Amino acid sequence: MTRRTLLILGGTSEARELAARLVDAGLPVTSSLAGRVAAPRLPVGDVRIGGFGGVAGLRAALVDYEAVVDATHPFALGMSANAAAACAAERVPLLRLERPGWEPDPSWRYVDGHEQAADLAAQLGARPLLTVGRQELGRFVPALGRHRVLARVVDVPDLALPEPWELVTSRGPYTLAGEHALMRRHGSDVVVTKDSGGSYTWPKMQSAAELGLPVVVVRRPAATDGVPTVHDVDAAVAWVEEQS
Ligand code: NAP
Repeated sequence: MTRRTLLILGGTSEARELAARLVDAGLPVTSSLAGRVAAPRLPVGDVRIGGFGGVAGLRAALVDYEAVVDATHPFALGMSANAAAACAAERVPLLRLERPGWEPDPSWRYVDGHEQAADLAAQLGARPLLTVGRQELGRFVPALGRHRVLARVVDVPDLALPEPWELVTSRGPYTLAGEHALMRRHGSDVVVTKDSGGSYTWPKMQSAAELGLPVVVVRRPAATDGVPTVHDVDAAVAWVEEQS
């Protein structure tokens, strides 16, 4: 890598780990965060916060960068699509770093979208635990507005929640004991999650299995075509080192 900076599109633990590895190696790195979370965990190295202003804004910003690693969350489709379009247009090398999804458990019920997850959860239980993120909660209200939902989010949503819903704010990583306690206290009878993958939120899946609760998993959206992809930080570091 030359001395020009690598841009990491972040907001994930993998993005923070990649930034730390590259800063340790003495490489110039800027991490970009969307600015959604009130008090984000900041990566080491330089950080910029806020959207770029669509593909056009990102294209303009790329003048400062040698290469880009898109290490955003598997469900952050808009940013990944913009990165693919802007990097192709500006001929800037782009790598996708995407953590693998969870190894499917035969008992999990996969659905293609949040509305389907809401409908299925409404059939499966009366007290769903929703762990789908603040931005998606509104999509669960039509099917689950009368259910005694426990919604766990990082920051309080703007949405006015239905009267029977309870909100808890917290941020992973979580523990098995903590997840057991939360589900028992709420009396959760179905758990709804995205297929986020990774270890931070895995204990809820273990806890649901041990408590015998059904789990509804929202499948990942299709990846952006034509972008080389790796699934771990070591491989991303190797790619960055090749970009010299
Ligand atoms: P998104 O829908 O894909 O992106 C919407 C817009 O937010 C993008 O067009 C971009 O705005 C801005 N944006 C997103 N990620 C950015 C980044 N890393 N740096 C600068 N701008 C960014 O994204 P999202 O699903 O809302 O996720 C937002 C952030 O939260 C991402 O960084 C993601 O890694 C993280 N995150 C998301 C989830 C999830 O479930 N979606 C879970 C955990 C963490 P402009 O068009 O103005 O550039």
